[in-house]
Amino acid sequence: MKKVEYDVLIIGLGMAGASLAWKLSNTNLRILAIDSKPWNRFGDKPCGDAISKEHFDNLGMPYPEGKELEEKVEGIKLYSPDMKTVWTVKGEGFEIDSPTYIQRLANEANKRGVEILDLTTAMKPIVNNGKVEGAILFNRRTNETIEVRSKITVDATGYSMSFRSKLPFEFPVTETLDDKDADIAYREVLYTKDEIEDYKYLRIFITQKASPGGYWWYFPKGPNKTNVGLGIQGGMGYPSIHEFYNKYVDYYAPDIDKNRLVVKGGALVPTRRPLATIVWDGIAVIGDSAFTVNPVHGGGKGSAMISAFCVAKAITNAFEIEDFSAKGLWSANECYIERYGAKQASLDLFRRFLQKLSDDEINYGMAKRVIREEDLLEASANGDLQLSVAEKAMRVIMALGKPSLLFKLKTVAEYMKRVKELYKNFPTDPSNLIKWKNSVDSVILEFNQVLQK
Ligand SMILES: Cc1cc2nc3c(=O)[nH]c(=O)nc-3n(C[C@H](O)[C@H](O)[C@H](O)COP(=O)(O)OP(=O)(O)OC[C@H]3O[C@@H](n4cnc5c(N)ncnc54)[C@H](O)[C@@H]3O)c2cc1C
Repeated sequence: MKKVEYDVLIIGLGMAGASLAWKLSNTNLRILAIDSKPWNRFGDKPCGDAISKEHFDNLGMPYPEGKELEEKVEGIKLYSPDMKTVWTVKGEGFEIDSPTYIQRLANEANKRGVEILDLTTAMKPIVNNGKVEGAILFNRRTNETIEVRSKITVDATGYSMSFRSKLPFEFPVTETLDDKDADIAYREVLYTKDEIEDYKYLRIFITQKASPGGYWWYFPKGPNKTNVGLGIQGGMGYPSIHEFYNKYVDYYAPDIDKNRLVVKGGALVPTRRPLATIVWDGIAVIGDSAFTVNPVHGGGKGSAMISAFCVAKAITNAFEIEDFSAKGLWSANECYIERYGAKQASLDLFRRFLQKLSDDEINYGMAKRVIREEDLLEASANGDLQLSVAEKAMRVIMALGKPSLLFKLKTVAEYMKRVKELYKNFPTDPSNLIKWKNSVDSVILEFNQVLQK
């Protein structure tokens, strides 16, 4: 068996792994990045391809350009289930061609010294004395098995979690995904029959009937091409996603030309708080594999980049202090929680609440402004649902005679605040992780029970 040594091994070159390779290519570390797919399919996974511009600005990532950029987005239109209320929320973003953008990151990282092997799969981890020390790879291009010893191994394997799931269960990064904490999502990219009206706005259709626990989207990729799809909550015994797609696609995307299909496919989206820790001894986990997706809107590309940014900083630091243990990498957790993780945890609760609402309640809530555009913006920007706003509205609703929804909203806001507090007190030392995780899990459990009432 061929044996090689690197400082860092990155497994998976989707948005998370490619961003990390790109970030770390500025260092003089010896890095190997691999993906099971061939080069020309890196980044090719089912996605709505919409990313907020702020992620690129905040993280110093290059904007998509040329073929990578399919459309500049100016905002989102959010439709109530009965289509009677439409909220327009302005905000800059991009509809990208994901494979082209991700392959550019990989190419640039490669030119700056990151070695890349395509058609290469991490088969199993190498674990020694409770530390990850690399992986056994199989390269389909050369038919070789390769033993890679690395100081830090990064799992960027997406929703498959195919590397970290093979670690001994004592590693806290082996946390599994409950089916109900994931959406099954499917999308098609097609040309349209006519020019799309307002094609710089993404459309989101909230509907429990046509996408229970998720939503339908219609994301234009220019004036005559669109990405259309839906997500539904997993583990609920709903009919198949294809059944929903075929039944409702003409309603939500009446202008598509089904004879001009560009691509189609589905995948799983984690919709929960992040892994309790994204690092442990000799290992870091980023992107979907670390559950970094926004629980409410299911966007995970921006937060995959955030996790890569935080892990890149922690890895650089770990090499400076020569400590590749959980402790040496711990700053990755602090960085990620501060930038996104705490908000994600509070949105995990909000998502659970939203998934229990009926279409009638959503229609009513949006029409009567029980919850408003600004609340939604605040919640999605910071994970805060302002109690004061909810309380003010409470009076209005009491007068209108439908207090239960608002009462629930108030309770949700309280729990969201509680969970954010817990994240503010994330342990500074790995030895306190389990105790902290148990307190988060018990708040979630309690919240689920409150929601059942
Ligand atoms: C239908 C759908 C629509 C979505 N819409 C949006 C959207 O509009 N905006 C948004 O931001 N997010 C969206 N998301 C979520 C987004 O696609 C993901 O969060 C994001 O792509 C995750 O990137 P990643 O790098 O973590 O994982 P992935 O892109 O899945 O990359 C993982 C890579 O690891 C490789 N790999 C896996 N196991 C191994 C192994 N053992 N050895 C070697 N390689 C391995 C895979 O081949 C793959 O290339 C959507 C998801 C779905 C399913």
